[in-house]
Amino acid sequence: MAYDSSNIFARILRGELPAKKVYEDDAVLAFNDIAPKAPVHVLVIPKRPFVSMDDFARDAGPEEVGRFFKTVGEIARKLGLADKGYRLILNVGGHGGQEVPHIHVHILGGRPIGPMVVTR
Ligand code: 5GP
Repeated sequence: MAYDSSNIFARILRGELPAKKVYEDDAVLAFNDIAPKAPVHVLVIPKRPFVSMDDFARDAGPEEVGRFFKTVGEIARKLGLADKGYRLILNVGGHGGQEVPHIHVHILGGRPIGPMVVTR
C-alpha cells in the first residue's frame, strides 16, 4: 500500500490540522488522541512517511526503528507512566484495526487498561 500523504497524521505533521503535542523532536511527534480511551492516551509517530509497521520494519533502518521505540519509552516515562505501567498498542492493517495509514503507537495509561484483547 502506497503512502497517502492526505492522511490525518500527515496533515497534523504539516500543521494543517491542530493537535495537542506532548513531545516533538526532529524524527518523532507525540500528541493526545482525539478520542481518548484512558486518562492518558497519546499517539507517537515517526515524522517520515510509513504506512504501518509493515513498511516501517521493511524500509527503515535499525537505527531509525530503534530510536523510534526508544523515544516511545522515554515519552511514557515523561508522562509519568513508567512506575505503574501502561499499554502500548500498534495496530497494523485491516485485521489489526488500523484506521489511520501513518504508523502510530498508542500509549495508554493512568488506570489499569484491562484485558489485552477482547475475544469473540
Ligand atoms: P488506529 O485505529 O489507526 O490504531 O488509531 C487511530 C487513532 O487516531 C484513534 O485512536 C483515533 O481516535 C485517533 N484519531 C483519529 N483522528 C484524529 C485526529 O484528527 N486527531 C487526533 N489527535 N487523533 C485522531
